[in-house]
Amino acid sequence: MHIIIVGGSFGGLTTAFDLRRLLPRRQHEITVISKERRFIFIPSLPWVAMGDKTIADISFDLDKPLTSKGINFVAAAVSRIDPEARKVHTDSESHDYDYLVIATGHRSANEAVPGLGPFDGPGHSLMSPPEAEEARDTWPAFMDDPGPMVIGCAPGASCLGPAYEFLFEAHHALKQRKIRHKAPITFVTPEPFLGHFGVGGFGKIRQFLEGELEDRDVRYHTSAAISKITDSSVELADGTAFESRYSLIIPPLAGVKPVAEAKGLANPKGFIPVDPYYRHGDFENIYAVGVTVALPPVEETPVPVNFPKTGHMTEQMAKIAARNIAADIQGGEKTTHELMVECIMDMGDEAVHIVADPVRPPRDVSKISKGKRWLWAKRFFANYFLWKMKRGATRSPKWVW
Ligand SMILES: Cc1cc2nc3c(=O)[nH]c(=O)nc-3n(C[C@H](O)[C@H](O)[C@H](O)COP(=O)(O)OP(=O)(O)OC[C@H]3O[C@@H](n4cnc5c(N)ncnc54)[C@H](O)[C@@H]3O)c2cc1C
Repeated sequence: MHIIIVGGSFGGLTTAFDLRRLLPRRQHEITVISKERRFIFIPSLPWVAMGDKTIADISFDLDKPLTSKGINFVAAAVSRIDPEARKVHTDSESHDYDYLVIATGHRSANEAVPGLGPFDGPGHSLMSPPEAEEARDTWPAFMDDPGPMVIGCAPGASCLGPAYEFLFEAHHALKQRKIRHKAPITFVTPEPFLGHFGVGGFGKIRQFLEGELEDRDVRYHTSAAISKITDSSVELADGTAFESRYSLIIPPLAGVKPVAEAKGLANPKGFIPVDPYYRHGDFENIYAVGVTVALPPVEETPVPVNFPKTGHMTEQMAKIAARNIAADIQGGEKTTHELMVECIMDMGDEAVHIVADPVRPPRDVSKISKGKRWLWAKRFFANYFLWKMKRGATRSPKWVW
């Protein structure tokens, strides 16, 4: 059998390494095809935007870690997927597969709001390495000549955590330079309340974040629908406009082009509907994991907020998919479980540790805990994760992590 995995990040690498352990090398070939030839620890992009880390610090080349484990690596962008013919195409080659795993992440749907940037408008973002580097390159000029700034998320956003992280980090950086009083910060979010995060909130996160923003003199607006970003303002659909000299706004996400365009593969937003085993409903030999998967919102909100897919959740999906592909091939019971989430949000000079199990309410566990120790834990974890991924050490002591 030949299993092709498209994507070399959280989802693609975890699936590849787990499958390599589950399927004998001599009988089954595994190939990872990735547009980006490096694994980049995306959760550290806010640190890149702040100039604390470089992309080189938070990444490694995929070639050796994969080939040394007996996994083929093709550094190329997939331009077309043909599920009927069981082929994926790059600009120069085509590859046949028996099983396909799609782990291509997202495309930032910047077209949703005029002015969402940074390459399509004056807004800044940090959803991809080039965008985080652009934010880093433009941030010092703002620090030298500060003014009002708006940080937030556009309607339909699903990855809201980085907006909060950038907010706390920007506040901290301005405060350290003793220029915070020159930069009024407004936080604008489609969430019905702070800390909804597309999962209906958890524990006391709402009261916690309201208190933290109020402590920092940050004005916030919830259920807000950003409709336009200009050089000097962020505008809402109800006509409200906030003056802003530096606007960092998280866009809504969509599926990448070859997935969105493949006949019968994706929903209208380009995300892939899957069954509880992460297998496509119509194509039995196609699995999808991570941000590319279509997962419905937890509830309807006045302004749309979509369900998040974190790195931790992506790993869980990848582990489930790998087990089920091995079960398809070798025989055995298929398996699945509810996703849970554990993450640490940087707050500048400290951090908050969040656990929600399961992610969708109602839950058995909803916990938050704040402290400097969590900032150290976050820094340690970022390096540890790179170290373990480089060695293919995706085996987890617990089934869920
Ligand atoms: C700024 C930011 C901060 C975050 N912070 C956290 C956090 O603190 N904790 C947490 O758990 N999660 C966090 N997340 C979410 C986490 O980064 C994602 O859940 C995770 O990256 C998803 O992994 P993935 O494999 O699905 O996709 P991605 O990481 O997006 O990777 C997609 C892969 O597909 C490849 N690819 C794309 N298109 C093609 C193509 N056409 N052909 C070939 N290859 C292709 C890319 O090169 C890449 O290798 C954050 C996300 C962002 C943007």
